[in-house]
Amino acid sequence: MLLTNLIDHTKDHYGEYPFLYFEDKEYSNLDVEEMAKKISILLRNRNIADGERVVVSMPNCPEVIFSYQGILRSRSIVIPVMFLLHPNEVHFILNDSKAKAIITSSQVLPNMIEASKNLSYKPIFIIVDSLENKDAYQGFEIIELYKEIASINASQEQLAEASENDVAVILYTSGTTGRPKGVMLTHKNLYSSAKSGYELSKEREDGGRGTTLGVLPLAHVYGFSAMNSCFLLGSSVVIFPKFDVDQIFASIEKYKVRSFSAVPAMLYAMVSSPNAGNYDLSSLESVGSGSAALPVAVIEAFKHTFNAEIREGYGLSEAAPVVAAHRDGMPIKPGSVGIPIPGIQVRVVDENGNDVPRGEIGELIVKGDNITPGYYGLEEETKKAIREGWLYTGDLVTMDNDDYLYIVDRKKDLIIRGGFNVYPRDIEEVLAKHEAVAEVAVIGIPDERMGEEIVACVIKKPGATVAGEELIAYSQQKLAKYKTPKRVLFLEQLPRNGVGKILKRKLRDMYETTDS
Ligand code: ATP
Repeated sequence: MLLTNLIDHTKDHYGEYPFLYFEDKEYSNLDVEEMAKKISILLRNRNIADGERVVVSMPNCPEVIFSYQGILRSRSIVIPVMFLLHPNEVHFILNDSKAKAIITSSQVLPNMIEASKNLSYKPIFIIVDSLENKDAYQGFEIIELYKEIASINASQEQLAEASENDVAVILYTSGTTGRPKGVMLTHKNLYSSAKSGYELSKEREDGGRGTTLGVLPLAHVYGFSAMNSCFLLGSSVVIFPKFDVDQIFASIEKYKVRSFSAVPAMLYAMVSSPNAGNYDLSSLESVGSGSAALPVAVIEAFKHTFNAEIREGYGLSEAAPVVAAHRDGMPIKPGSVGIPIPGIQVRVVDENGNDVPRGEIGELIVKGDNITPGYYGLEEETKKAIREGWLYTGDLVTMDNDDYLYIVDRKKDLIIRGGFNVYPRDIEEVLAKHEAVAEVAVIGIPDERMGEEIVACVIKKPGATVAGEELIAYSQQKLAKYKTPKRVLFLEQLPRNGVGKILKRKLRDMYETTDS
């Protein structure tokens, strides 16, 4: 199935219903279809179709969803870009993808204009709201979406043929481990991922329908695919331009939300909020978490505060994204990311690609309809990552006898200290339990004597006082000596990407430039 058939699916199975809530507005599935058709015609009229790339970059709003569907209908490729990126980062993406158009909002436009300077070509800018100071952007072609489509008749759209193996989306990874790479995802990849989300939710008594929250950025694969699952389920979704804990609480109360998908930073913000008691959150049953490690301490605090479960899952852009999840009706094992989703094959292998015995640490490799055909324009990188159809995830894991997966760490974040393997996550789990610690990230830094040394980067809880030596002594009591951090670096905040994932590469750079 093509992603452009998702709306047909909603019509066939559920008729017309409110698909989207945003601020005080409501849009039905038919409204989404109408806007998508108009955007598709607009793009085609400008020769942006059939494999051309189109960037979409703005905070979550209905126009992001209209644009994704419209771009796909024109048979172009969507490039979702987090609006918080620095112009240099966006410049890299534009230069790499040669995207002909950028759909954005007037708030993000200055960054996009900056990013497009010194490109070998000139993209056009499509603004979803209105532009007041057009004169400030002389030399750039900027059009206003709603003005342009006012005279377009949606029923005149002529949809071109497409194959499920056509690339639908190119997602640039955030480069937590190096240069951003454009992960190509086909219609088949994304549909199969949406379908597994759908099948997991369908296991619920009410068939998984209802209203859910779109708190994840739609520019991230996790948010994008959660939305695709909503089309399949016939659910309604409330989207937010930014994450605001009180708004989340108010929406859970208003729409009697039972579950939604989030990332650890959001869940941490929810459990730390003093305002939870002001709302009726009793409808909440579970929240999915993925994209980064979730400390067990947060799972416990969440259960205690909201009487709801966190179901941790795991995935990566290259798998569109979900690989494993905790499913309804199966026991939750804190610290585990659940079992592989239906239809995906997984293996845990050593350096030579041989399976390791159950329970031992190895690299996770995966195969299935959701796996990317490769990185855009990067043949060598693709060959390294995908061998004989198996995607090498770069994640070190163990698998227990019930097929539950445990993420040990990223291969690239592994610290080798004096010849011993040290997994930063082991230390992070311990320090996260200290009463003065709000957040912690452990990195390895080069050391002449030991090869690498361990540094814990810590954010203190508001008002807490603690010395580095105290935290080192605390970890010494709970961990093998060789795993003890040598230094503690106190920071005001940790560098994160758009879904709150800690950028360890940036932390290592920061450490080098910090006088400690
Ligand atoms: P890059 O690949 O360039 O570093 P990125 O981290 O943004 O960028 P994503 O595809 O968004 O790329 O992230 C996938 C990675 O996130 C996985 O390979 C894994 O390391 C990590 N991850 C995802 N879910 C979890 C989880 N539940 N626990 C621990 N790590 C997770």
